[in-house]
Amino acid sequence: MNPYIQYMYSYPHKTAYGPLMGISLADYAHALQGPGHGLYLHIPFCETKCGYCNLFSVTGQDSGAVDRYLDAVDRQLAQYGEILDSCKTEFSDFTIGGGTPLFLNRRQLERIFASVDKRLRLSEKLETAVETAPNQTTPEKLKLLKQAGATRISMGIQSFSQAELQTLWRRHSPQKAKEALWLLKSFDFPCINLDFIYGIPGQTVDSLLASLREALTFEPDELFLYPLYIKHGAGLQKCREGAVLDPDQAFRQYQEASGFLRSQGFYQISMRRFTRAYPHPAPDCGFSTSLALGCGGRSYLGRLHFCSPYATDQATCLRQIHAFQSVRDFTDIEYGILLSEDEEKRRYVIRHLFIYPGLDAKKYRRRFGSSPTEDFPLLEKWTREGFLKEGPLLSATEKGLGLADCLGPQLISPDIRSRMEKWEALYG
Ligand code: SF4
Repeated sequence: MNPYIQYMYSYPHKTAYGPLMGISLADYAHALQGPGHGLYLHIPFCETKCGYCNLFSVTGQDSGAVDRYLDAVDRQLAQYGEILDSCKTEFSDFTIGGGTPLFLNRRQLERIFASVDKRLRLSEKLETAVETAPNQTTPEKLKLLKQAGATRISMGIQSFSQAELQTLWRRHSPQKAKEALWLLKSFDFPCINLDFIYGIPGQTVDSLLASLREALTFEPDELFLYPLYIKHGAGLQKCREGAVLDPDQAFRQYQEASGFLRSQGFYQISMRRFTRAYPHPAPDCGFSTSLALGCGGRSYLGRLHFCSPYATDQATCLRQIHAFQSVRDFTDIEYGILLSEDEEKRRYVIRHLFIYPGLDAKKYRRRFGSSPTEDFPLLEKWTREGFLKEGPLLSATEKGLGLADCLGPQLISPDIRSRMEKWEALYG
């Protein structure tokens, strides 16, 4: 069994989306009524492209290009703000992701915080998360983030081995990562998260554990362990032989690394996420609402999910950024998907089963009027096979958690699968 089929980060995958007509944000804004919503701003700029990256990001853009992008975000914010005002929408979480948000200069970062603050209603207890990378982490920018109230900084380290960083086409050195981490620590943010990758060609269990041991000397609050996927659009797919994930080797590394982190007092929340603090149950993530700003991020408003068309290569991403900059009416939703009740159920199950604390059958019944095991007999089979355990909640066992990227995709509906396959045949 190959444990690495697909990362079910969010169901359905963007490649299953398609053109939408006659849908306005105003028609679905009721999903954003009152407090407790997420806001995401996508910054699609990076210094260079990492070899494994198939995210929506472009390189080689100057400060003027970033300014033009932020001008469009401002117009989008103004239009969204007008609609959301009547819903008294209040955001409790704000994430700036990318791309590399700290690719922006100080003035541009200040502009973002000021614009969001001016146009939208933010909770007094707003949680603000910002992604960064070692080469872009400077004292000036961290000072600004601190003043802006950032509560969580997430840094992509990936490895402390120079050879592994080169294999991944990361442009920072292990030394640079350590300096950035010391600097980050000195600002005393409430939560520091570090990302690592396993399954890198040439990586061994020992070198992975050495990276994690080094990471722990910086006492991070959270760690993410990502298996290396080389998917369509990633540079390594075209340019290197032997860059394809070796599933057996990667799984051995996962087992050793997850066991090591648990032995060091970390709680395992999902296949990828480890936290030092005892985990509080996450909000009902199958139904959480999130509004995306900019180009490349996704919005989740009840059964309506929308974004710009899926793109991974520089030319298509650039075209979409230019198209985004000339949009007149950002409230006209042109691309995405409207989930049927069956798809909402699948999303609910996928989003809860493999994430602490698990799937609450009572909540599921209140929402859908049926039981998850009635709707998905596969869950009973997985329980018999030792991948799930019953208790107050239905949740993955240690064995099931490690196989989340293999079990989760089995819950994809035939319709979504066929849409994804069509996309793959056209562009993959
Ligand atoms: S992995 Fe992150 S930092 Fe690297 S190119 Fe992609 S978005 Fe940029």
